Amino acid sequence: MQAEGAWTNNARCDYDISVTLPNHICQVTGRGVLGPAGHGWTSNGDPAAGQTLQSNKGSYVAGVFDVAHDNGLRTGLYTGKSKFALFDTSYNATHGEPDATGPDNGRDKIDEFVCEKSPKLVPALKAAMTGAAPFHYVLFHYAETDAAGHAFGWGSPAYNDAMKKMDAYLGQLFEMIAATPALKGKTAIILTADHGGAGRDHSDATKAIDYTIPFYVWGPGVQAGADLYALNPATLADPGTGRPDYQAAKQPVRNGDAANLALRLLGLGTVPGSTINGVRNVGAAAPATQPLPAAAALPPPRRRAA
Ligand SMILES: [Zn+2]
Repeated sequence: MQAEGAWTNNARCDYDISVTLPNHICQVTGRGVLGPAGHGWTSNGDPAAGQTLQSNKGSYVAGVFDVAHDNGLRTGLYTGKSKFALFDTSYNATHGEPDATGPDNGRDKIDEFVCEKSPKLVPALKAAMTGAAPFHYVLFHYAETDAAGHAFGWGSPAYNDAMKKMDAYLGQLFEMIAATPALKGKTAIILTADHGGAGRDHSDATKAIDYTIPFYVWGPGVQAGADLYALNPATLADPGTGRPDYQAAKQPVRNGDAANLALRLLGLGTVPGSTINGVRNVGAAAPATQPLPAAAALPPPRRRAA
């Protein structure tokens, strides 16, 4: 991905919180955690029955799934952790917002939710993506590196073994794209993390080892070997070892950039209510707003009504 994509190893998780679920919500909503604009979810356990992002915030918290699904795209969430059920509940046929964009695609914004460990999860995703109706947008989550970190320590031999296994799984996805005509040359991958870690912990959001994460982009139109900070001088500034808050005029790349960048690559508008949107350009060769072709035999993305 470093050779063929645009990337940085100096991205940031949320400013205030460096644990799992709040940061994955940043990736879905394009918001930070705290404050009036934040998504407001600070817990890292399994959500209580019936609890949603909306019930917690007191107002609708839109995500990348809303924009993609409301525009007629097929969406999936494949995860190794049960706490991700929060998304399936928050965006289901009862709690998802009515679709006010173009034809009514329904309130259930996530077409397929799968929770398994990677040895089952990766084949399930490959089967779906090489089948008759591949997803236009899918959030795919590997859990095993975090589990190895908590059990054996970040950077331990067992952690590094888990990382190698995840790297091989990622390789399977690249091979799948290369071998599938409906996907080849039409599919982008955004790779990031919810947080870093040291010892057996990652819960101190003031520590560089916890808040420093990678953010890689690969796909058609993405400039090979490019630095995301160099590509986005108007919106981003490399924070060095620092921890800029959300008031900084130029932001670090954040894991929360994943939502709006994915929508940009799909030719769609931003997530309503989102505030994290610094990665606007991933390659000089392609305008950032150029839509990617949809998978074969599926309707092309429809632009969000102005
Ligand atoms: Zn963890």
